[in-house]
Amino acid sequence: MKNKFYITTAIPYLNAPPHIGHAFEFVLTDFIARYHRLLGEEVLFLSGGDENAVKNVQAAEKAGKPLQEFIDHHASLFRGLAKNLNVHFDVFQRGSDQKNHFPSSQKFWELCQKDIYKKDYEGLYCVGCEAFYTKIELDENGECFEHPGKKLETVAETNYFFKLSKYRGQVIEKIRSGEIEIVPQTRKNEALSFLENDIYDISISRSNERAKNWGVPVPGDDTQRIYVWFDALNIYQSGVGFGWDDKKYEKWWPADTHVIGKGIIRFHAIYWPAFLLSAGLKLPKKLFVHGYLTINGKKMSKSVGNVIDPNNLIKKFGTDAVRYYLLREIPTTDDGDFSESRMHEIYQSDLSNELGNLLLRLTTLGEKDGLNGVSNEDAFKKYQEVVDKNVTKSEFNIALQDLWTEIKKLNKRLDEEAPWKKEASERTKVLEDLLTELNALGNALRPFLPETAETIIKSTQGKIKKAPVLFPRL
Ligand SMILES: [Zn+2]
Repeated sequence: MKNKFYITTAIPYLNAPPHIGHAFEFVLTDFIARYHRLLGEEVLFLSGGDENAVKNVQAAEKAGKPLQEFIDHHASLFRGLAKNLNVHFDVFQRGSDQKNHFPSSQKFWELCQKDIYKKDYEGLYCVGCEAFYTKIELDENGECFEHPGKKLETVAETNYFFKLSKYRGQVIEKIRSGEIEIVPQTRKNEALSFLENDIYDISISRSNERAKNWGVPVPGDDTQRIYVWFDALNIYQSGVGFGWDDKKYEKWWPADTHVIGKGIIRFHAIYWPAFLLSAGLKLPKKLFVHGYLTINGKKMSKSVGNVIDPNNLIKKFGTDAVRYYLLREIPTTDDGDFSESRMHEIYQSDLSNELGNLLLRLTTLGEKDGLNGVSNEDAFKKYQEVVDKNVTKSEFNIALQDLWTEIKKLNKRLDEEAPWKKEASERTKVLEDLLTELNALGNALRPFLPETAETIIKSTQGKIKKAPVLFPRL
């Protein structure tokens, strides 16, 4: 039987169109999913929409749109972006899905019942994070680290609380032992150092009034809705059958990898395992944490006006060029920068000149000589090791750098050996050899640049014909 591999992106709020940070996370996760598919595993790739949040309600009000219509529109934008990036979600699970998600979250609540209690509470609430904070968790201005400049609201209401404090020791142990693996190590340390603080119980419901009657009703109390993290994290389970298809759930759960941004590590490394432990369910195996993107060295923000629509980049440069930038220029588990001038530069040098020209030159020469392309299947995996080694280290960007070193070498060989100056039999030998190498590079590129890799593989097999231009001049 095939190994199963269940991987997820984080679940974005659907209060605004996707930006380049979402594109990065989609492509990163898609790379891992494709890599595992190529290993022969049965992969399920889930994304979705966190729709039951106050900030969605507020954004819809501000836009003057009916709420459901507003989030439907944004859900379609996220799915559209994925499609444009050649990212294929097997499941896109939405929080407003009453058929599957609602009963799923209610079941999750019921399983945690012994750790849920009601109390009056007054606390500082960040609408941006949808979370209550204690003073110790805020910066010197009393603002949240994710939303500096935004005043926290004092919120007083009667809510249901989850006994998070009870699970502190167990969660520390699960992370320390690696039962929940956190990549990279710096993020693991961060989660553990956070757990050294006092851990307070957290509110997991809102009154209907604050929730604007939106979201999953609390089982047995129709004055309250299940709120945010308890409900949103459960999308990872509701999307694979939890509460509505036991067989499906048993097949896929636990998640093998949750890919998340560094800003939500606390919720995934502490809340999520605590909820699952309380419910008696299996824990996810791995949290894969990436950094944030700046734009020309500046933080992305609506007020600065530097938010980039990744769809425009795809229109201009093409899907694989954008995938290449994100996977190569952004350090896989660290912060990175996007600039359109750098995009131009690598498009021209790496993609158009080095890779595109190599394929074109070799296939043009091959067609002229009536060559047959690669038949040596042993060579197909030659560069796989370059990829495997760097995937093990979670450095996908280095894998691409190393593959491009090889591409440069092939260009150099073609120039130096100048097969067009050689007589027929020697010329054939050099060309066949180079075509075989390029074919193997195409294989190694498959999870990174799927369409480009396909074209390379096809063009270097069988009767050689001049290949199509991979990256036309802009
Ligand atoms: Zn915040």
